[in-house]
Amino acid sequence: MNTTPQPYAGNAFTEIDFEKPGRQIGFINFPHSPHSDAWGVTQVPIAVISNGAGPTVVIEGGNHGDEYEGPITIGELARDLDPGSMQGRLILMPANNVHAVLAATRTSPVDGLNFNRVWPGDPMGSITQQIAAYVAHRIFPMADAFLDLHSGGSSLDILPSAIIEPSGDADLHRRNVAAVQAFDAPYTVVISNLGDKRTATAAACAAGLVTVGTEMRGCGAVSLDALQICRRGVRNVLAHLGMLVGDASPVCAERPILELRGPSAYVYATEDGIFEPFHANGEQVSAGQPAGRIHRIWDMATKPLTLHYGADGIVYGRRHPGRVAPGNCCVVVASPYGERK
Ligand code: CA
Repeated sequence: MNTTPQPYAGNAFTEIDFEKPGRQIGFINFPHSPHSDAWGVTQVPIAVISNGAGPTVVIEGGNHGDEYEGPITIGELARDLDPGSMQGRLILMPANNVHAVLAATRTSPVDGLNFNRVWPGDPMGSITQQIAAYVAHRIFPMADAFLDLHSGGSSLDILPSAIIEPSGDADLHRRNVAAVQAFDAPYTVVISNLGDKRTATAAACAAGLVTVGTEMRGCGAVSLDALQICRRGVRNVLAHLGMLVGDASPVCAERPILELRGPSAYVYATEDGIFEPFHANGEQVSAGQPAGRIHRIWDMATKPLTLHYGADGIVYGRRHPGRVAPGNCCVVVASPYGERK
């Protein structure tokens, strides 16, 4: 189901030569003309490590600016990976939503956009749209595989997991599942973002790339265990793709695949207050069971409001800040993949 790539029609430029062997570290420069800098550029960091024939693999971090295990792992690869130890071409982009990364925020402070809801971007749009368009139209056509390394960000605490983006192409879906399982994270989860196709992983699937996502805890912090899982998982996937010379394809633990099964997976706040969760991440829960309650601590006369799970499964993620408002995601439940009640 490869879509014919649209040629890149923007005006970004770079000193990186994508055909050159060895290691290069530099920037993609997007002409950008804010009040403070009429003729300046937004610089998106990029490294290319290339050695001989082999797959081209793109690894993205900083899609959201408050998620850190992926960008740390990508920076380490850029500095430390010996080109002689690999075959193919690795394109490393640790901070694609660069203004959000610099501000440590989920969305860009420049145009207010969520980088993961603008794909395939617009080369003549706002800065966030321009960066997505460059990756979609200039980088993806060179690539065979795409890893998008997320964590839960400031508002979520998520079980460390490797993520399958569902693809309608059965063969690509099978190759995606194999690559995601090669990551060997403690959990493997199918996440469709409620069917939203404007994400980086959905765009990568549409372009026919083998696609791997992650969620590595969150809370706007660097998690010790998730960072180790991320470092190891990325190397596992590169070995699985045949890129790392001498690294045998990893032997992975057999794990059930989970999924976020549509809106019933999400427990949303229905009023203002402080959310008290009843279960820790990883605990088994069932539909109809109380998930937690919302306290109005400034109003003792009002009883807490109980929220209930809508699905059977395990608690996969929880809201990190205690304060909630109507519509906030308080808890997420992951269910066994493919099972329907
Ligand atoms: Ca994210």
